[in-house]
Amino acid sequence: MQYEPVIGLEVHLQLSTRTKAFCGCRISFGERPNSQTCPVCLGLPGALPVLNEKAFGYATKVALALGCEIQGFVKFDRKNYYYPDLPKNFQISQYDKPLAYNGRVSLPAKTIRIKRVHLEEDAGKLLHEGLDGASRVDYNRAGIPLLEIVTEPDIASPQEAYDYLTKLKAILEYLDVSLCDMEKGSLRCDANISTRPKGESSLGPKVEVKNMNTFKGVRDALEYEASRQLEVVNSQESTVQETRLWDAQKRVTISMRSKEEAHDYRYFPEPDLVPFVADRQSIEAVRRSLPELPEARLKRLRERFGLSEYDAGVLVSDKAMADYFEECAGLYDKSKALVNWIMGEILNRINLKKTGIREAAPPVKDLVELLKMIDSGEISQKTAKDVLTEMADSRQGPRSIVKAKGISQISGRQELEDAVAMVLEKNKKSLDDYKAGKKNAFTYLVGQVMKETGGRANPRLVNEILKRSLGR
Ligand code: ADP
Ligand code: MG
Ligand code: ZN
Repeated sequence: MQYEPVIGLEVHLQLSTRTKAFCGCRISFGERPNSQTCPVCLGLPGALPVLNEKAFGYATKVALALGCEIQGFVKFDRKNYYYPDLPKNFQISQYDKPLAYNGRVSLPAKTIRIKRVHLEEDAGKLLHEGLDGASRVDYNRAGIPLLEIVTEPDIASPQEAYDYLTKLKAILEYLDVSLCDMEKGSLRCDANISTRPKGESSLGPKVEVKNMNTFKGVRDALEYEASRQLEVVNSQESTVQETRLWDAQKRVTISMRSKEEAHDYRYFPEPDLVPFVADRQSIEAVRRSLPELPEARLKRLRERFGLSEYDAGVLVSDKAMADYFEECAGLYDKSKALVNWIMGEILNRINLKKTGIREAAPPVKDLVELLKMIDSGEISQKTAKDVLTEMADSRQGPRSIVKAKGISQISGRQELEDAVAMVLEKNKKSLDDYKAGKKNAFTYLVGQVMKETGGRANPRLVNEILKRSLGR
């Protein structure tokens, strides 16, 4: 029998509001533990929550950008469980009436349906390391607004899960509502996966995999889990519903607990927050204020600058990169050359330095100046690469670097003619070879001229002068 994996993802997104979801505590990372807390987020008796309007606005923005319908009637529920990172012993969440439902994220070959988007609050953070078996808890994170974005089980492979996450993150970055940094925990992903016979429409028991901290980690964990489940069903046994943890070092998933059911959480309406009806006009106002999203930008960049689907796709997937490109393109009209530099040298530096484009690349006006210096023949392509590195590291403009290093391109005809003459003098053998019909002797001679000039000769001119000297 042939089997196939079925995957659904739950993404938790920390919203970057100034204050927490239900109290006025500042959201600020790296502060002294428990310094960003108050009676509300510590769950002290008598303290009452109030919904942060901004968090609700951000949530609405995301829901609309994902094409969701917005639930008119907004209510919150208590999800009850006992754990030391949860001071109230319940999490304020939304159960039967999520903020929004029925959305979609389009991938090139497929659409992934969004089942629901709801607003809840984050828990505190337990610290275990270096404490001799003891644990500590920091409640600074407790009460930060979290948006949960849940897909239908529409995802058919680990790679498709990766593509969905990449696309979702791009959309979220354009909305500017979260830091969206999985490694720092502002974006988290739990992956649900089951296995069923190909062609079957009902679902097998689902395994929820947690504890991945990169998109690649999600893909790896799903690859592992898909083959583990395949082995189980191939040996005529059945998989069981459970929660498993991804161990990134050992590259395996480990069973953590058999999965709890919704009724274990004893959900009930949060009595301290009054339900309300979201006002249609303000929702429409949010819709009108949505920024240009990746898909629309891709289309615009292709039309306006004649970029290929691939080039535009890479640029748009990183908002900062697309912004950088557009700022440069406003000052420099050879967009293909510009894209090649950004997707070549600059993207290499981004990957190498693991920073954003603004740190990895020179300021816009300096890059443009560098490209214009190449065009005018002042420096060679090759020199320009070195100058670019120097520019990005030292934050100096290209002109002062070229001047300081004496690496401007030699385009003076006389100087190059002298260099060619000298090379021909020194390489009589190659000259004879050339005359005897060995065409690659020509390439060798060009190389010698480049060497003679420390790589600074204008190659086009060298070719021209050499051809003439050889009577070609
Ligand atoms: P729960 O209430 O346990 O969180 P949901 O039905 O809300 O379960 O689903 C959570 C996530 O798991 C969703 O992304 C959904 O698409 C996915 N999912 C549900 N059942 C399965 C299954 N059998 N196999 C794979 N994914 C599933
Ligand atoms: Mg769930
Ligand atoms: Zn607080």
